[in-house]
Amino acid sequence: MFDNDYFTEKELSCRCCGNNHFSDDTLRRLIRVRVRFNKPMVINSGYRCRAHCTSIGSTMTHTTGQAVDVSVSGGRAYELLGIAIEEGFTGIGVKQKGAHKGRFLHLDDLEPIPGECTRPTVWSY
Ligand SMILES: [Zn+2]
Repeated sequence: MFDNDYFTEKELSCRCCGNNHFSDDTLRRLIRVRVRFNKPMVINSGYRCRAHCTSIGSTMTHTTGQAVDVSVSGGRAYELLGIAIEEGFTGIGVKQKGAHKGRFLHLDDLEPIPGECTRPTVWSY
């Protein structure tokens, strides 16, 4: 990834090993969203290695470096979702149940892969 004013190497790196293969194109898209949102965006997950995905039982979407989970809820989640879709994020995961501090939106810009990966799409946790 490249240096920028909004997101740090650390917050986009794998939580287990510190590796970071976050996509520059996705980062540019994320920065466009952040500039329009014009409020802090707390990233609770960016790049993840395969071992980390396996250990937490998640899909492999974060291993592409094209996915983030943003801690956000309520009205801010509504606003962020609209901007993210307009800026071309095509995979939207919605976790908006339970305590507000545990709520988040997953955003990715993966390409569809026939038989494997549908985009655009929305799912819930
Ligand atoms: Zn790791």
